[in-house]
Amino acid sequence: MNLNFSVSELIHSDNAIKAGIDNTPTIKEIDNLLNLIFYCLQPIRDKLKKPMIITSGYRNMKVNFLAGGKANSQHLKGQAADFKVQGLKVQQIIDFILESGIEFDQLINEYDKWVHISYKKGKNRKEVFAVI
Ligand SMILES: [Zn+2]
Repeated sequence: MNLNFSVSELIHSDNAIKAGIDNTPTIKEIDNLLNLIFYCLQPIRDKLKKPMIITSGYRNMKVNFLAGGKANSQHLKGQAADFKVQGLKVQQIIDFILESGIEFDQLINEYDKWVHISYKKGKNRKEVFAVI
């Protein structure tokens, strides 16, 4: 099990590869991804001690379109990631994050299929909701 997140985990996109799209972020977007890793994803992984699978991280405009993301999605800025945890339901993961006190901007249960978490340095709204 990989113990530390890498930026590449958050840039990888099967959709981008299939469509031949270069999903390389800018320096600003990488900076946002690093904050997301440092303040959200890595603390969750460290406390949860279970494998976390990132299903989507940074998405450029084309990749976001293919994923059906909103035009103002935080994935476009490198501020958001979607993930699953083996053996845990989405709501269990969300409850764990809330109890852990980990900081975030938005924490969303998306279709009971994955967790969407975002981080916006200095501007975290601490919003929690579900999308059905
Ligand atoms: Zn998302």
